[in-house]
Amino acid sequence: MNEKKNKSALHVNAGVDKPASVNPALEKNLEKFRKGKPSAEHLFKGIREGNRTALSQAITLVESTLPADQQMARELIQQCLPFSGNSFRLGITGVPGVGKSTFIEAFGLHLIEKGHRIAVLAIDPSSTRNKGSILGDKTRMEQLSTSADAFIRPSASAGTLGGVARKTRETMILCEAAGFDMIFVETVGVGQSETAVAEMVDFFLLLMLAGGGDELQGMKRGIMEMADLIVINKADGDNQKAAQKAKAEFKNALHFFPPLPNGWIPDVLTASALQSEGLNGIWEKIESFRKLTTDNGSFDQNRNHQSLQLFEDSIRQGISDHFYQHPHINKELKTLREKILNKELSPYEASVQLLNQYFKQTGI
Ligand code: GDP
Repeated sequence: MNEKKNKSALHVNAGVDKPASVNPALEKNLEKFRKGKPSAEHLFKGIREGNRTALSQAITLVESTLPADQQMARELIQQCLPFSGNSFRLGITGVPGVGKSTFIEAFGLHLIEKGHRIAVLAIDPSSTRNKGSILGDKTRMEQLSTSADAFIRPSASAGTLGGVARKTRETMILCEAAGFDMIFVETVGVGQSETAVAEMVDFFLLLMLAGGGDELQGMKRGIMEMADLIVINKADGDNQKAAQKAKAEFKNALHFFPPLPNGWIPDVLTASALQSEGLNGIWEKIESFRKLTTDNGSFDQNRNHQSLQLFEDSIRQGISDHFYQHPHINKELKTLREKILNKELSPYEASVQLLNQYFKQTGI
C-alpha cells in the first residue's frame, strides 16, 4: 500500500486476515460446543452425574428430527438403558381445568419431602396445532420447577402421537439414568393420548371433578377402564359434599368393570390439590399397588409386555415408513386409488399388486 495515501486521520487501516486457529481439531470441537451439541459420551457422563443441562440437551437430541441427532440419541439411550427402569412411572390424565398441574405440583412436592426425585413429562399431541404445550406455561408448577429434586420437561411439540409417545418413552429412560425415581407423565384427556400414556406407565391416575354426572365430563368411558385410581379433585370448601357423592357414584361404576388380570382393584379417592389434602392417601394406594404387583410378578410382566409391544410397533412403523416413502410406491398409489374408485380393481387385489411391485422393487 502507498504510505502517502494513508496519512489522513480518517483513514481506516485495512484489516488483516484472521490468523488460523490454534488447532483445527479444537476449532471443530468448539464449534460443536457452541452449537450446543456435545458428544454422546459427554452427555452420558453429565446425565449420570445428574447434570440437568446435559439431561436437557440429551432430550433435545431425542426430539430432533435430524438423522445425525437421531443416531446420537440412539447411542445415548443405549448407554443409559442399563441405568434405567428403577423408577415408578405414573400417568396422570384428566380434562383441562381438572387440576392436573396443581395436583402434580402438590403431589410432587409431597414426594420430594419423602426423599423422591421427580421428573415431569407430558404428552400433548394437540400442541402441534396451537404451538404450545400443556407444560409450556411457565406459571404452572412454580414451586416444583424451582426444586433441585424436580425436572419438568414440556411435551415435544411436533409430530404424530406415536412419534411424541416414542420420544417420551426415550426421555423417561434418560431421566431414570439421571437418578429420577418418580416419573410423572401428564396428558390431556382428549384423543388417543391416554392410551399411549397408559401403555408406557406402571400406574394410571385419572383426575375427575364432582358434578360431572353421567356425561363423565366429556371423557370417554374407556378412560375409566384404564384407570388404576380415580381421584375426585377440588374436594374442598362448598364442593366437599358433592365430591363425596361423586366418589360413591364412581366407586359404584367401577364395580361393573371386569377384574384386572394383575389382581389390582381400582379405587376412588377425593383430594384437594390446591390445599394439598388427600395426597398421603393417594401415595398409600400407589405403594400398595407397587407391593401387590411386585409380589405377584405383574409389575415386571407389564414392563416386559410394554417393551415387546414397543419393539413390534417400531418394526411396523419402520416397514410402513419405508413402503410409503418409496418413490415408485408413491406414484403407483395414486393410480391404484383411482382404479379402486372406478371399480376397475378391488381394494384387496390393488393391495396385492402394489405389495408385489414393492417386493420386486426392493428385491425382497
Ligand atoms: P389443568 O388444566 O388440569 O392442569 O388444571 P390446573 O391445575 O391449571 O387447574 C385449573 C384451575 O383449578 C386453577 O384455577 C386451579 O387453581 C384450580 N384448582 C386446581 N386444583 C384445585 C383444588 O383442589 N381445589 C380448588 N378449589 N381449585 C383447584
